[in-house]
Amino acid sequence: MTVLVTGGAGYIGSHTVLALVESGETVVVIDDLSTGFPYLLPDGVSLFKGNIGDENFVESVINSCGVECIFHFAASVVVSDSMRDPLAYYSNNTAVTCNLLRVAVKCGVTRLIFSSTAAVYGNPDHVPVAENATMRPLSPYGSSKMMAEQLLHDVAVAHDLNYVVLRYFNVAGADPSARTGLATAGATHLFKIAVEAATEQRDRVDVFGIDYSTPDGSCIRDFIHVSDLAQAHLAALSYLRKGGQSTVLNCGYGRGYSVLEIIETVQRISRCKFAVKVANRRLGDIMTLIADTSRIRTVLDWTPRYDNIDIITEHALAWEIKSLNRFKSGRTTS
Ligand code: UDP
Repeated sequence: MTVLVTGGAGYIGSHTVLALVESGETVVVIDDLSTGFPYLLPDGVSLFKGNIGDENFVESVINSCGVECIFHFAASVVVSDSMRDPLAYYSNNTAVTCNLLRVAVKCGVTRLIFSSTAAVYGNPDHVPVAENATMRPLSPYGSSKMMAEQLLHDVAVAHDLNYVVLRYFNVAGADPSARTGLATAGATHLFKIAVEAATEQRDRVDVFGIDYSTPDGSCIRDFIHVSDLAQAHLAALSYLRKGGQSTVLNCGYGRGYSVLEIIETVQRISRCKFAVKVANRRLGDIMTLIADTSRIRTVLDWTPRYDNIDIITEHALAWEIKSLNRFKSGRTTS
């Protein structure tokens, strides 16, 4: 039986593909390569280049490869972009998921694992935030994922489909052996920006607001190592295979770090005191997001291995240095 990974050549997708292959699964990837790279994939994984909104194309991949389960990663993921271009987000994250579900149902795929986000919560009333908290997204990105979750729920009620929705908190780090990592050009995520500054690819890091009601005034996030997140996907697959019911699970560690703490950590581990500048708040940002992780720890057989901000930073830095060397040697796209 084959697992189809949409967006498998991207950051979280490629780590999950690696984990799936290492556990003996047969994996095929669909990726339009808009932000993904084939070189992030391990050898032996078939890559079909194309858009998952193209139903005929997806149907032919599912049927020809005997797909049993879909991991749906492919999406647009930048909060600030979604504020500027909401239609792109509703189209790429919500409408495309609708197309994918239509094909999945038509082809008899009965299991789906969906990449969602903590952005569905908006500013939660209680932190750590649990899965049953009211969803009040502050950005079209969060709304587009919330709507896709709703689609999935309704389709699963009507058809023979079980799913696990994984709501990612802030994903960081890279494969401990630096086989894959975050390669997307122009990434806007804090960790990426900070390791770029630490490797002298940027002059400075801007801190978007230090006037929040938090201990040091900057926003607080729950950072999860990408390899732990990949293992959570594997655990979700075995849960569904054992007959587990459709469910929604937070993916984080349940502990928050402020933006300033992350910057200090990256400076300390890299021994590079890059410049830091206070800037205005960024539109759509949530003040504090920390996961209540009790559900995922009970429902799935999942225990994180890299729950340590220094280790996350070391792995992110090692990948960044490797990527930099790759870039210098001229191998950027394959
Ligand atoms: N952030 C920042 N400077 C940057 C990038 C991010 O201060 O260059 C802050 C951002 O305002 C937010 C936190 O870091 O409070 C995490 O942002 P990121 O884009 O990494 O992830 P998000 O939580 O928006 O998904």
